[in-house]
Amino acid sequence: MGLLIEADLHTHTLVSNHAYSTLKENCASAAALGLKAIAMTDHSPGTPDGAHILHFINQRTLPRTVCDVTVLRGAEVNITDSTGALDMEERHLAPLEWVVASMHNRVMNDHTREGCTAAYLAVAENPLIDVIGHCTTDSFPFDMEPCLKKFKEYEKLVEINESSVVYRNGSLQNSIEVLRLCKRYEIPIVIDSDCHFCDLIGLVPAAEQLIEGTGFPKRLIINADWERVRKFVQKRHPGIDI
Ligand SMILES: [Zn+2]
Ligand SMILES: [Zn+2]
Repeated sequence: MGLLIEADLHTHTLVSNHAYSTLKENCASAAALGLKAIAMTDHSPGTPDGAHILHFINQRTLPRTVCDVTVLRGAEVNITDSTGALDMEERHLAPLEWVVASMHNRVMNDHTREGCTAAYLAVAENPLIDVIGHCTTDSFPFDMEPCLKKFKEYEKLVEINESSVVYRNGSLQNSIEVLRLCKRYEIPIVIDSDCHFCDLIGLVPAAEQLIEGTGFPKRLIINADWERVRKFVQKRHPGIDI
């Protein structure tokens, strides 16, 4: 069976205490699996054990490839309230090459359907964000149809997140609904491991089952093809050396 994804665009390193591998370990695993690229997307400073802001600023000193795997410099930034506010400043997000925006317990202060819907509708318009991370947990209900349509309108990729499907309440059913709507409205997605340990990088078996079960078209899975990801990043960052 071929790999479903060529680039894992949501991965963590041990700069957060609840993750357990280094960037080099992640890249070595990615290379062994045959991935072409990863995005390093550690938690923004608002997460209780998130990375320090200097972690994000200093990523520019990293080599472009590690173990022959291209590394996109990124973050998983927190959506913190119903206005779509984020816990990183624009000047720190702007240089990053891959920004996943997610809602997390302990950080997002509004768990109502109205609040989460308003937050996503606002976040959709933020030009610094590339991906809407794991919008599939029961903790943060929202009106899927208008939000997903707006994500497409503003070229935000919708994430199907392996770790959420496996570990987070409601995420299996909600991911099926997201895929159903994305298929109907031709909304591009990414499938990511959200791994917190290197051995899990690039592995998305639960998501793969959902793709097959829903008959989701592969052409809408952007990271099934690294070239499509490259073009997406180059459009936002003209002149980038990838
Ligand atoms: Zn997350
Ligand atoms: Zn994550």
